[in-house]
Amino acid sequence: MAALITGIHHITALASDPQKNIDFYTGVLGLRLVKKTINFDAPDVYHFYFGDEVGSPGTILTFFPFKGARRGQKGVGETTFTAFSVPEGSLDFWKKRINSFGFPVSDIQERFGESFIRFEDHDGTGLELVASIGDERTGWNQGELDGDRAIKGFHSATLNLRAKDLTEELLLEQMDYQLIGEENGRYRYGTAGKAGDLLDIVLRQPDNRSMQSAGTVHHIAFRTADEQRQLEARQKLQEAGQMVTEVKDRNYFKSIYFREPGGVLFEVATDEPGFAIDETVEELGTTLRLPEWAEPNRVEIEKKLPSVSLNSQTP
Ligand code: ZN
Repeated sequence: MAALITGIHHITALASDPQKNIDFYTGVLGLRLVKKTINFDAPDVYHFYFGDEVGSPGTILTFFPFKGARRGQKGVGETTFTAFSVPEGSLDFWKKRINSFGFPVSDIQERFGESFIRFEDHDGTGLELVASIGDERTGWNQGELDGDRAIKGFHSATLNLRAKDLTEELLLEQMDYQLIGEENGRYRYGTAGKAGDLLDIVLRQPDNRSMQSAGTVHHIAFRTADEQRQLEARQKLQEAGQMVTEVKDRNYFKSIYFREPGGVLFEVATDEPGFAIDETVEELGTTLRLPEWAEPNRVEIEKKLPSVSLNSQTP
């Protein structure tokens, strides 16, 4: 049977300041703001999607920036680090670049045979860049972030869990993942086993409990090709005892949600239809896009949202 789940679709985190958020992810990391919309469940909060040129599944980090939100705390039962894939040989460049904007960066380290650096944005969001071997995606190239440097998309995500057995069983039996290896207490899983589909479970527990607020990940979404496969995945998850939501229309994809046994909120999102349904590829992210049901309230919604600029000074 064809795989229902084929890797990571997007990761959604919480942030404190919409402008700083845009400045960091476009200005420092060179991702493209591919959609500026609202949190469908809280229309007075933005929802920003950052990714490659078109927001391909597997490249999209999204944020709900709650202005003035206090800083959260990474902990057990959460996605604690989001790793992006960058070209081999580019880590020295990235370390210098991120440093030059005033953000500390770790030394270059090794994991599963690949080099990586670790850093945080101004909210404490856990980020890594991995010099990924054999990742043929090109990312969004502009200026000095050319094909030898630009972020290609996700490499992997790290879940911090108290125990791994039930989550592993879910990944292996319901979500088309396989165990790839273990290194220093880090268990790595993959669907095809390449950048963009890798998921790590780490059992080393931080002393602190997690507190979800700015700088923490709200949920991680896995990709499925289309609505038919999503329904099949939903049924499979339900039959295994997962409490899965109804299908929700997120405009740019359809979604189902459930909380995996380790406490992390999982989503399964469709690759279709993507971000070019309500603006052209050239226009992506340049104006506030609203779902049809919110369009009649546009004036009111825009009044409540803080104004942001795509071309403000980088941090
Ligand atoms: Zn989502």
